[in-house]
Amino acid sequence: MPSTTETISLTQALTSAANRAGRCRDCEPFYCDACGWEADVAFTADVVAFRDTTDGPEVLLITRKWAPFAGHLALPGGYVDPADATTVTNPADEVAVSAVAAAREAAEETRLNIIRDQLRHVGRYDATNRDPRGRRISNAFAIQFAANTTVAAGDDAATAEWVPLETALNQPMAFDHHHILTDAVRLLRRGVLDS
Ligand SMILES: [Zn+2]
Repeated sequence: MPSTTETISLTQALTSAANRAGRCRDCEPFYCDACGWEADVAFTADVVAFRDTTDGPEVLLITRKWAPFAGHLALPGGYVDPADATTVTNPADEVAVSAVAAAREAAEETRLNIIRDQLRHVGRYDATNRDPRGRRISNAFAIQFAANTTVAAGDDAATAEWVPLETALNQPMAFDHHHILTDAVRLLRRGVLDS
């Protein structure tokens, strides 16, 4: 097992996830509610979705259904799945594979239909203490939607709602999602997200 501070590639993490030796039959690739197993190192992807209304910009936030941070506001997102790497030209391209995961997870949690080419990379978040489960390396993406875009909570989200940006910036959020949101707002202000 790699130490939690060791560098590991996305490909290595996905290969490790696909090897289920020693785990129970219910184990997901990176965690297991049945036996409590958690991967030491895993890659995740998060989405900062904005929409521009007459009252100003809004950001899409979910309420987490599960630990850690159950009941907390968060950006939609989740684990990069081994299957996500099979849909891109270069499976070792961490950002490209993470964009697939980001679009898939946002759709699962909020019913948002994301065109992957419209995602803009916000950054790579890999501070060793950002997730209490272990080393979780996240690539975050931002995207802008039309004012009439609707969402609905699904999968791991208890709620999914458009929140006025100024309200969201003043809320505590799970993990380092407030930091990610702040970084994405810079792209929004620069007009980088206009499609
Ligand atoms: Zn298990």
